Amino acid sequence: MQIKSFPKLENIHAIAIPLPEPPDLLTANVYAVGKGPLTLIDTGPKIPGSLKFVKEKLNIAGFDFSDIERIIVTHGHVDHFGLAVSIQESAGQAIACFIHAQDRWRVSRENFREELWTDGMERFMAMMGMPKSEIQKMRNRFSSFRALADPLDEVSVMEDGDEFEGDGYHLRVIHTPGHSLGTCCLHESQQKILFSGDHIIKHITPNPFVEINRNHLPDTQYQSLRAYLESLDKLAGLDVRFVFPGHGEYIDDLPGIISSYKAHHRERMDLVWKALKVQSRPIYDLIDDIFPFVPENDVFLAVSEIFVHLEILINERRAALTDTGPPALYRALEY
Ligand SMILES: [Zn+2]
Repeated sequence: MQIKSFPKLENIHAIAIPLPEPPDLLTANVYAVGKGPLTLIDTGPKIPGSLKFVKEKLNIAGFDFSDIERIIVTHGHVDHFGLAVSIQESAGQAIACFIHAQDRWRVSRENFREELWTDGMERFMAMMGMPKSEIQKMRNRFSSFRALADPLDEVSVMEDGDEFEGDGYHLRVIHTPGHSLGTCCLHESQQKILFSGDHIIKHITPNPFVEINRNHLPDTQYQSLRAYLESLDKLAGLDVRFVFPGHGEYIDDLPGIISSYKAHHRERMDLVWKALKVQSRPIYDLIDDIFPFVPENDVFLAVSEIFVHLEILINERRAALTDTGPPALYRALEY
């Protein structure tokens, strides 16, 4: 599927790398900001042809990798920082890479050594009632993600409110945890653009991933979906003409998409509640009720999505853990 062209703006060049694999994120979007030297927002994944694609698009805009002064990574998933090392190598120079402190571990060599997979994740999935054969498939799939990025040894950390300025642009970091703990959006005030990473995407509702590896949490009570919804509120008052997301098409109605996301999560919360009304069930068994058409590769996402909704239901005393398992069983409470 072709995505609608991005609006032509002075000093902001959108580079939409086509992605091969269904279910479709459509593209991985990279943004080159400035008149040079450039700030690059995200890099795209390391897939065949992606480096060449980004270079060609930069060349068309009159730049090369050596014009990049810094790379800002919206969050620590492989499709957003995968090319950072290749870009530096092609530029023949080190380029400062910024990421929020809470996603720093995700881009580290240690995380890659674990092949993006931990025993904790395995235990979690067994607890959710996922059969062993499915867990094995998931392990293989996560291991394959490793090829999509080189780890980043040298990173600088950024935090909420940090500003990056250059000729023709002014970016401010807005920490928007939810999709991941360290996810950030960037607001460019001169042309009123919000770079939203995977916090806002037009054609899908972004996944507030369950945080399984809770050692990395600054707050033990952290809940992904609750954080995600609060992060949406954080964007509400911003002066934004266009949202430039991490995947797919740009968006021209920020308040509209925020309210559609909120409605969606309310509906999904009710679906989860209804699925647990008659009897106690493990999360894995709810997939057929909530996501009847989920592709095999996305079963993990479905489990994660149901779990983060359940966290809120439990928090609001609309559901409870009735058996610690494994598998853990949950039941809706009347309210
Ligand atoms: Zn992504």
